[in-house]
Amino acid sequence: MPKPFWQRKTLKEMTTAEWESLCDGCARCCLEKLEDEDTGKIYYTNVACRLLDCEACRCSDYENRMSRVKDCVKITPEEQFFWLPKTCAYRRVAEGKDLEWWHPLVSGNPETVHEAGISVRGRIGGVEGKVRVRDYDQHLVRWPLLENAKPKPKKKKPQVKKA
Ligand code: SF4
Ligand code: SF4
Repeated sequence: MPKPFWQRKTLKEMTTAEWESLCDGCARCCLEKLEDEDTGKIYYTNVACRLLDCEACRCSDYENRMSRVKDCVKITPEEQFFWLPKTCAYRRVAEGKDLEWWHPLVSGNPETVHEAGISVRGRIGGVEGKVRVRDYDQHLVRWPLLENAKPKPKKKKPQVKKA
């Protein structure tokens, strides 16, 4: 069987459809971040971008996101990926890593990114505009930078009924 596209293509070689499908739908990159001006280090908060649909973990206006949110970053193959979570599929492929079991392209199920505890669903502590920027330091969280997925659920063995 041929290898899947993310194992045999570089980010630059992917088609637009492949590129878009590579996003796992975690929305970690849609959390507000603080940058240390001296070191360049990025700190994640649990405050969501105002356009994020926090339940679906999808941008509510993906087509117009760049004009509506000035600091939304369009991820491209030329991007510096260091600021993205280590779980991010773009960063993983750029670093020569494979996708994990919970990635929808691997599992065939868009829910596994949520079931594995990778997405931001249920973990949002505020929304941009409702939380004052000066209070962001009270919303700093480490989990978006961790690779702390829940283990893959084991398949249940079929029950054999006694006659
Ligand atoms: S962190 Fe990466 S994989 Fe997750 S939503 Fe953002 S771009 Fe997609
Ligand atoms: S505008 Fe959309 S894609 Fe950009 S950070 Fe906000 S929710 Fe995410």
